[in-house]
Parts: sequence; structure tokens; C-alpha cells
Amino acid sequence: MFLALFSRRPAPAPVAPSAVEPEPWFETGETWTPEGVTVVERHWTQVHAVVLVYTAAQGYRHNVACLGCHFRTSATRRVGYDWLQLEDATAAATEHANTCRAIPRDIPARPDDDTVREHLRTWVTTSRTRVADEQIHLEKLDPLRLTIQRTTDWLEAALQQLAVDQPEILRTETSEPSDRVSYYARRLPQD
Ligand SMILES: [Zn+2]
Repeated sequence: MFLALFSRRPAPAPVAPSAVEPEPWFETGETWTPEGVTVVERHWTQVHAVVLVYTAAQGYRHNVACLGCHFRTSATRRVGYDWLQLEDATAAATEHANTCRAIPRDIPARPDDDTVREHLRTWVTTSRTRVADEQIHLEKLDPLRLTIQRTTDWLEAALQQLAVDQPEILRTETSEPSDRVSYYARRLPQD
């Protein structure tokens, strides 16, 4: 009996429990990859809200958006540049992250297609003037891209469809030979 005890094979060592990833208590933007933009940097505020630097244009035209408060900027401070350069976006994000005390808010839900089309229609409508057809640029939507969450191709297709459906508010022009499409919010009717 005594000997038998010692002749037993030792029980296999218990398998160390694999490190359990703590459940994220909710998504604060730490891993969020919104459709249609590239997140270039994430900065954290002292209360763990995330400040994103993102681009909808692969390397230029940077934007900064706080997922705690509603701070966002795409305004350039550098003379000679039309868009926020990465260096300036980083500085703006750092400065904001150092001062913002807003707790993380919910990540914006991806809206359905009809909602995004309505955003576009509103944008076109509010761009109209009584003076002339106003050229509108997709770049102007950059600050809205975390809300609308669509690719540039999707937005272009939706705008072209809008021009077909409501030619009285939007027209397109295709330039030769690049096939680049330009968009014009139609002049408002004269009284
Ligand atoms: Zn903030």
C-alpha cells in the first residue's frame, strides 16, 4: 500500500489558466476602427477617454476628435497648408487630452443608409445659395466622418444618385480625361 502510493505517477501539473483578458466594460474607442477613415493616433485623457487623430485621405487632411466631449478640429494652424498636418493634429490631440475631463461617451453607432443619405441631402441643401451653383467638396465632410461612417466610394455613389434623383438640388460634372466628378449644389430659385 505504502509502496503503491509512491509508485503512482504524479498527477499532471494543473494547466495554468490562460491569462483571461478582462472584459472591456464598454468600447471607449481604444480599438474602434470607424468605416471610411484611418485612425492614425489615439491619445488618452486623464479619465481614459480617447482622442482620435484620423484621416479620410490616406496621409493628409487630418482630423482630431474626442470621444469624451465633442471636441473636434480639422483647422490648420500652418500657413500654406489647407489641411491639418499630422504634426499639428498630434499637437492638438495632445493638448486636448491633457485638459479634457469628460468621461468616455458611447461610440457613435453606425447609421443606416437612409440616415446617411439624409445627412448628404441636408449638406447639399444647406450649401445652396441664391448667387450661383456652389461647388461642394467631399473634404468638407471630414469632421462628420465619425458620424456617417461610410467609405469615400460609398459617399460618391450616394451623391451621384442624389443628383439623379433630385437634379434640382445637385448636379455633377465629369472632367476629361480624369473622369473626376465634381459636385455643385444648385443655385436657389430667385424670388
Ligand atoms: Zn474632450
